[in-house]
Amino acid sequence: MTDSPSAERTLCIIKPDAIAHQFMEAINESIEAVGLRIVERKELTLTLEQAQAFYAVHKERPFYESLCRFMTSGPICVQLLEGKDAVRAYRKLMGDTNPEKAADNTLRKRFGHSIEANAVHGSDSPENATQEIAFFFAP
Ligand code: ADP
Ligand code: MG
Repeated sequence: MTDSPSAERTLCIIKPDAIAHQFMEAINESIEAVGLRIVERKELTLTLEQAQAFYAVHKERPFYESLCRFMTSGPICVQLLEGKDAVRAYRKLMGDTNPEKAADNTLRKRFGHSIEANAVHGSDSPENATQEIAFFFAP
């Protein structure tokens, strides 16, 4: 069921730190509370090759190797979210990359531990959402 012609999709990842701390349920309650629907969900542990491919856009950044190791450090939950303006709505709910700078009530403020272990990932544009969804979910 697609809500309306304006419904959009985005990719959410609950990162290893948040899974380990059992924050998934609270995170998903917040996602649904802003009107987004979780239409697919998959739990898995990334291989290093998968993490490197998923974050390839960052491969020149100094944090790339550490980020890829962190993302393989335990199980993650990958979710396909759908709703009005989903990319922007979910980025707003996540908050700033750095939990210390994130606004109150955002997921990263509430559940993040550091700029790296910041609890959640969200696609940053509809184009990247399409690519990231295809990375994890068959059409
Ligand atoms: P966002 O996840 O907010 O879109 P980026 O795409 O810039 O942020 O970075 C991807 C991920 O890399 C972040 O969510 C975070 O886990 C990690 N990261 C970003 N910047 C840093 C940094 N300066 N040091 C360590 N890890 C970082
Ligand atoms: Mg990003």
